[in-house]
Amino acid sequence: MGQPVQDWLRDYDPGEITIATAASHSSLQIFHGARKEGFRTLALIAGDRDLRYYDAFPAAKPDRVLRLGSYHELVARAKELRDDNVVIVPHGSLIEYLGPKDFVHIEVPVYGNRDVLDWESDRDKEREWLEAAGITMPKQIADPKDIVEPVIVKYHGAKGGKGFFICRNYHEFKRRIQEDQAYTIQEFVLGTRYYLHYFHSPLEEEGYRLSRGSLQMLSIDRRDESNIDEANRLGSIKDLEEIGITPTFVVTGNIPMVIRESLLPEVFRMGEKVVEESYKRFGGLWGPFCLETVVTPDLEFKVFEISARIVAGTNPFIGGSPYTEMIAPGLSTGRRIAQDIKAAAAQGRLGEILS
Ligand code: AMP
Repeated sequence: MGQPVQDWLRDYDPGEITIATAASHSSLQIFHGARKEGFRTLALIAGDRDLRYYDAFPAAKPDRVLRLGSYHELVARAKELRDDNVVIVPHGSLIEYLGPKDFVHIEVPVYGNRDVLDWESDRDKEREWLEAAGITMPKQIADPKDIVEPVIVKYHGAKGGKGFFICRNYHEFKRRIQEDQAYTIQEFVLGTRYYLHYFHSPLEEEGYRLSRGSLQMLSIDRRDESNIDEANRLGSIKDLEEIGITPTFVVTGNIPMVIRESLLPEVFRMGEKVVEESYKRFGGLWGPFCLETVVTPDLEFKVFEISARIVAGTNPFIGGSPYTEMIAPGLSTGRRIAQDIKAAAAQGRLGEILS
């Protein structure tokens, strides 16, 4: 992509960085972590959305707010942000509001590798990357006529599981599908879901070492999805459909999880392979990322998705998780990001972790 991040950084004062993100998603956690590491913070917000909720959380409240007509204005206001030594920490909502095209071209240093977006947002490329890393993904069904077992149909670009549906055969598929949208059909994997929150820093030489830097697993959550996660209250999915209720997968919250210890070697093996493969393909995946998995009764992981940045599932752990307790007390993913930026600034290596 050739973003001239090195050019922009020439004018940066590494001791005066401001960490910015959009006021939503995991911004409280990102600002809280940034403040703990001594950074100034800036909330980006479009329109007149009420931000008084920040007053209720003084330890996370951003130092400043930049109100925009729309997030697209960030593109035109890049110089102003650079003059303020701003580093943007992206999260899923920022990318959704800004749109992947504007996000990739915004001329402000961004934490993480922007090139990953290309591989993450295209379901075929995502599968190519993860399978090359030795990850098992749910089977993909190319022709809906071949549906002979429960499948989940996912519309491309759909956010938060909206519009996804389960079906068991071609007849049910035809009844439900909206043909005007691109979709993928995946084997529905029955098991228990774990959303694994990793962190890879190319700068960190201690801990679980990779070919460069090291890998951490900071926390695990399970998403609470409405209405599928409470559907059994009314009976089977078939019962629901008979009374006109369709199961949906809209994320409404997150539940903290731990995984049985004997699965941890595989958790680390998967994270390691995904990172190593990312360096071969597009220059690396660093910072926080999440593998979204189902563990089958045979104790096998099937990974149905990767998120290549902080996920909202890390929010239950702003004060630390059972895993970060064994790394450093009170460590959140937001704080770990701030530590990485701080270490890079101190070592004159910001160009290695920003893009
Ligand atoms: P996604 O947008 O891919 O994260 O999927 C949204 C939700 O659908 C997930 O959080 C899971 O609850 C569910 N899901 C996605 N893919 C599968 C699958 N292959 N098997 C079972 N459940 C799935």
